[in-house]
Amino acid sequence: MDLNKLTITKARKLLDSGQISAQDLTRKYLKVIEEKDKEIKACLLVDKKGAIRQAKEADKRLKQGEKTPLLGIPYLAKDILMTKDLKTTAGSKFLEDYTAPYNAFVIEKLNKAGAILLGKTNLDEFAHGSSTENSAFFSTHNPYDLERTPGGSSGGSAAALAADMCLFSLGTDTGGSIRQPASYCNVIGLKPSYGRVSRSGLMAMTSSTDVIGPFSKTARDSALVLKTIAGHDKKDASSLKESVVDYSKDLDKDVKGLKVGVVKEYFQGLNKDIKELIDKKIEILKKQGAEIVPISLKYSKYSVPTYYIITPSEISSNLARFDGVLWGLSDEKIKDLKKYYQNSRSKGFGQETKRRIILGTFSLSAGYADKYYKKAQTVRELIKKDFKTAFDKVDVLIAPTTPHPAFKLGEQINDPLTMYLEDIYLAGASLAGLAALSMPAGFVKKDNKELPVGLQLIAPKLKETTILETANFLENN
Ligand code: GLN
Repeated sequence: MDLNKLTITKARKLLDSGQISAQDLTRKYLKVIEEKDKEIKACLLVDKKGAIRQAKEADKRLKQGEKTPLLGIPYLAKDILMTKDLKTTAGSKFLEDYTAPYNAFVIEKLNKAGAILLGKTNLDEFAHGSSTENSAFFSTHNPYDLERTPGGSSGGSAAALAADMCLFSLGTDTGGSIRQPASYCNVIGLKPSYGRVSRSGLMAMTSSTDVIGPFSKTARDSALVLKTIAGHDKKDASSLKESVVDYSKDLDKDVKGLKVGVVKEYFQGLNKDIKELIDKKIEILKKQGAEIVPISLKYSKYSVPTYYIITPSEISSNLARFDGVLWGLSDEKIKDLKKYYQNSRSKGFGQETKRRIILGTFSLSAGYADKYYKKAQTVRELIKKDFKTAFDKVDVLIAPTTPHPAFKLGEQINDPLTMYLEDIYLAGASLAGLAALSMPAGFVKKDNKELPVGLQLIAPKLKETTILETANFLENN
């Protein structure tokens, strides 16, 4: 069996026709992990026993004739999603020995659907970052060039899928953490609209933009995973009540009459090889009957600065609960409460996490909140309005995902500002809570290497169907 070419859709046929069992499939992927992960280091934990147990269960259900899209399909989850009997570290020393008391909503949904959790993937600590280098444990390597980053913060999930260690994986996107690694690892990464997927059991980074989504090989696979994990959850107050649609239903639709907006600001000064690749895709859309409309998002240049005020502010508040009292790193010998907290937090948190706590505490502090946090919220409204005006004219926006292909591990890690600029095309859609996706656009040459890059599709809130249909079209044309 050629795992390279296997997708959920293809595996489904093999499983349903009895040509393979869920146990066969699970063992295959566990073997790939064993072989490849020594070099790639995508996984923080592999649960062989649990995976085989789940596969046996799936085989029973398959024998009874159950037809569920993800039954028997092996996957990996970013280690910031709580899993009941497995450790959840969030890539942090603080949680090195932490096992959550319950499953995240999405893990529970996937359990019920019969998908098989193989293990947990590496990430930047608490999802703060763009390279996995902020993980307290190790960095993940890009399967296309081991010297390079897979991107971040969901780098482990993207690299694992690109290296065929699973059939899909889960990531989280707060300001680009699904789309950017998808671009660097040549896979599809879908950031659903804010509120479409419950955040219950996801350790909070920026509660107002955090969202869970899949990495997959095809748009069709993405549609299947989204359908399973989406839906209202009363445990998450921001979870949307709208019913979940069948994202696969009209996937083969053509693009005649589709209005595609090309964002002027996103192409200014863009790497010319990446621009060429995206232009080719725009040409294909045009030839097949899509209407190409120039769009200007005049506040887009403020999206990174706005994001980097709102995000640390929410982080500083969300991480306040990490005091080492009920869980996490602690030293019982310390009797002074202040010193106890100090010890847990200074030993448990990495440099980038501390930087964000300090920045956020400052932006929210009396005397500065108006100047920073409140101002950023005002600009955020303008950014949202910009998108709204654009979507009065078009159905979908096409843009680059990243300004360049994957950079080398170590190349940017000591320069936080350069690292923050990774989110230049990504933060806007996050601040506005829109549906967005990155899909493979082709390869560009860098340092004599052919490296993959993605293109981004952005649609209004809850219009996941539009981006999945457009992605499916581009995949096949
Ligand atoms: N790179 C961004 C950051 O560091 C995005 C992170 C994310 O989406 N989790 O904040």
